[in-house]
Formats: sequence, C-alpha cells, structure tokens
Amino acid sequence: MDLERLAYKYALKNALDYGKASEKAVAGKVFKELPEARKNPKEVLAKISEIVSQVNGMSEEEIRKELEEKFPEMLEEKKKEEKKELPPLPGAEPGKVVTRMPPEPNAYPHIGHALSFFFNWYYARKYNGKVILRFDDTNPKKEKLEYYEAIKEGLKWFGLDWDMEYRMSDHLEKYYKYAEELIKKGKAYVCLCDPETIHKNRSEGLECEHRKQSPEDNLELWRKMLTGEFGEGEAILRYKGDMKSKNTVMRDPTLARIILDPHPIQGDKYRVWPTYDFACAIEDSDLGITHVLRSNEFELRNELQKAIREDLGLRQPIIIHYSRFNVEGVKASKRVIRQLIEEGKVTGWDDPRLVTLMGLKRRGIVPETIRELAMEIGLSTSQPVISWDLIAAINRKILDPKVNRYFAVVEPVRLLVEEAPKVVAKLKNHPSFPERGIRKIPTDGLFYISKSDAEKLKPGDQIRLKDLYNIEIMHIGDGEISANYLGDAVFKDMKKIQWVTQDSREFKLVIPDLLFKGDEYNPDSLKEYKMLGELALANLEIGEIIQLERIGFARKDAKDRFILAHK
Ligand SMILES: [Zn+2]
Repeated sequence: MDLERLAYKYALKNALDYGKASEKAVAGKVFKELPEARKNPKEVLAKISEIVSQVNGMSEEEIRKELEEKFPEMLEEKKKEEKKELPPLPGAEPGKVVTRMPPEPNAYPHIGHALSFFFNWYYARKYNGKVILRFDDTNPKKEKLEYYEAIKEGLKWFGLDWDMEYRMSDHLEKYYKYAEELIKKGKAYVCLCDPETIHKNRSEGLECEHRKQSPEDNLELWRKMLTGEFGEGEAILRYKGDMKSKNTVMRDPTLARIILDPHPIQGDKYRVWPTYDFACAIEDSDLGITHVLRSNEFELRNELQKAIREDLGLRQPIIIHYSRFNVEGVKASKRVIRQLIEEGKVTGWDDPRLVTLMGLKRRGIVPETIRELAMEIGLSTSQPVISWDLIAAINRKILDPKVNRYFAVVEPVRLLVEEAPKVVAKLKNHPSFPERGIRKIPTDGLFYISKSDAEKLKPGDQIRLKDLYNIEIMHIGDGEISANYLGDAVFKDMKKIQWVTQDSREFKLVIPDLLFKGDEYNPDSLKEYKMLGELALANLEIGEIIQLERIGFARKDAKDRFILAHK
C-alpha cells in the first residue's frame, strides 16, 4: 500500500474517532506500518500534514462515507475493539466467584469508587458468581443516611446491580465475638494509654504496659468498654502486632474503639465500633468472598487483615491490587471536595467540574464512558493519570451517533443579510441518520452568529450560513454585521457557520474547565456565556444530552441552562 493511501486511511479513522485527525497519531501509524518511510521523514511528514488537513476539512458524513467505500475494515476494527475483556481472574471457578462492592457511606461516590465497584461486579458477572453490596459503616462519626442512598443511586445510574445488600453495622455482635476470641488467644489487648502516648509509642516502636496484661484482665476491660465504664478515647482494643514492624500498620493497630455519636442506622444502640481493618478482615472471609479487587492504597493493610484472619482461623480470599488512578486537574478526596464546597469554590457534590458520579452525570458524561474507561485502563498497576481528553474522546464516540444536533450561537452578534429571500431552512437532526427527521426554521434575513465566528470575518468574505445559503460580508459595525445575499449554490470549500434567527431562545451555556492547574485552584474553571439557541432546545427535557453544532456536546441542566460536556 502506498504512503498516501495509508496516511489517508489513518487520518480518516483518527478523525472519525476523535473528531479531528492528529498529524502525530497518523505519522505514528504510518511509520510503524511502512518502515521505509523513515528514510525521508521530512517529505513523509509534509505529505501526512497535507492529507491530515484535507481530512480535517471534511464533514463527518464525508469521512464515514470514504471509510465505508475505501477502507471498510477500519470500521470493522472499531466494532471489535468494543468487545474488550479484562484478564481472567486467578483461581476463579465459574459459578463460585463471590466479590464485594464495599462503600463506606461517608461521601457521594466518585469515579474511583465506580471503577472499584465495576471491577468487582464485572468478575462476579463474568464467572456467573455473586456480588455483594457491602456498606462498611462502622464509623458513626463520619457516616450519614443520605450517603447510603446516594451510593445506591450512583450504582444504578452506572448500571451495576448486586445480589445481596449487607450492612456491617447490623453485625456488631459478630465482631465482638471475634474480638473476644482474639483476646482469649492473647492476640489483642485493651490499651488505656492516652492518644498522644499511643501515637508517640507507635512512631518510636515502643510497647506500652497494657500489652503485658493477661487475657483475663483484657477480657474484663473489654467488657467494661462494652458496658459503658469507659468514655470515648479512654480505652481501645488493639491488635498485638509488632511494634517494630517496618509496616507501621502492624504496630499494634486499633481493632475497636468507643464512639458515642449516634449511628445513622443503629442510633445509640452500640458504643464500641470495630475499625475498618478488623471488620473488613472478618467479612472478606465470613461473607464467602472469594476475590477482593481493590486499589493499592490498601496494600499495606493487607498484612494486618491477613494476620487477623489467620489468628481467627478464617479462610483467606484472593486479593488483587490494581493501581489507584487520578483524573487530570481534579481531586477526588472527600476532604478536599468538602473544603471546596465550604469555601464556595464548587457549587456542591454535583458540580460539573468534579469527578463524583453526580458531577459527571450533570456534565453529560454517560455511564458507558466510565465503563469503557475501566476496560481501557484495566487493572493497571502503573499509576495512570486519566486526561479529560480521553474521557471526552470516549464520551464523544458513544454520544455522537446517539444524540441529535442543534444550532446555537454563543455571545450572539447580529447579522443582517440584505435582500434575503424568506427561506425555510431544513436542518437535519443527524446527518448520518436521515430517518431522525428535520427541523424547519423560517428565516427572514436577520440572524445571530457566534462572536467567535464574527471575529474572524472581514468585508468581502464569502461564507455559507450552514444548510441555508451563501452571503458576502459587506460591513462590520459595532454590534452588527451586514451582508449581501449570494444565492444558494453549494461550493465545497466555502466556510460554513451556524446561525439562529430572531425567533430563538436565550440560554446560559456553562463551560467547565480543569478545577486545578497543578496544585492551584483554577478560578476560571467555570465560565458562563450567553447563548441563543433554536426554539427546539426549549422543548428538550432537563437531563437530555445533545450536540450543539461546532460548539460541542451539552446537557440541559435547567430550563434556561446547558452545561458543555466537551467539544
Ligand atoms: Zn497502653
């Protein structure tokens, strides 16, 4: 295959996948497939650049048509890619895999939770097993009722189901029983040191006097913890680990502590609460869980949880760690988000700049995109940083064939076409799917166009008002442009711009950007513009996602507001 044809093929494919072909991407493919091209890189790159700009001048319809006619295999390939699978699960037996989705109801779920839930759900379904939605709710200081529901709603939106719902807080008696067992075995003790001493001893690797207490003494102290003879912070149950361990998690960690705050479900029924490590170590075995997929921030805790299970004679599940990932320009930590909300820097948990599921949904990122992202990064063990470009590319690919297109203009500028005929424009709802119909818009020569288009015009320019007719710019005045009608013959190379008539509606267009640039909060990360849109936009349901031609994909957020997901 010759160079030009090859470059053309990849430019078309690249443009179709990403909205625009990139010279770099095309060159990469060409050099890989045609090593001899490396002999004259300059010439080859010049040729590629020419082809890429030719392709970028084509409409999506033309690109699709060219691919179908000349390189149908490239469209086939796209279908194949969608059937990606994650690697097989070690030790998995069909029908017997049990996994868990373990949220703590202390915040609204974000994309990191979603990926963890997804991996666990995926394998349970792949092996015809079971997935348990397990609320790890043993810290009444942090948990709230609203988060239980928000998590379930997030899961439903994401399209994940579960076979059983379980709340750890319903099983405190079980953890007490295991705690007693550890005490009797000499594997746990009640420590009465004050928090500062505990902290100091931990960092210096020193044992305290309580470590030497007999199991009988510890049992008695433990019962006193349960019956209310100690107040908050006066006594904790500690695991007898190794105060000199390099893994500081093993330095006699807390297994249970007194918390007097009311629990959102259990109220003030209990005063002693197991720590995450203790309850999780038990339940990951006791619930019949065979496989635990979790991000490597838990890796250091593994040693402890494993040791607790060993001491209690509980079966060990298979644990698979994948790398925690970050999304460019956002911080997912609930502490950071809470602070941003308090400072008024974001509008709430559903702010479209956040990667909470509510935020992503509000921005117009669809659940399929997060699933595909999960498949894309897989169980990576390197630390991936997910760029918004990647999220946008996947989302665009999914939305593009599904959603209809509309005309709107941002920061409108008046355009008067002299002697314009009264024409009814027929705008296709989607160029690739004629069966979706058209919108008819009567015109009378008075239009609005986007400021960004207006700024590029100069007298004498001949342009086409898309799907209408051609005009020649005559005069650019203050706040108004005048033009002459030029007929409606279609010329291929003529620049096309979107327009709306005076019979349009005013909306706000909200454009989110990266919330953080490096570590700095980006004060310009949410901008709002005046937008005029065709009447049909007023009839859309709130929540609907559409494409505003040459602006981008947007979700209707309120009667008079759209949020731009991405270009
Ligand atoms: Zn102590």
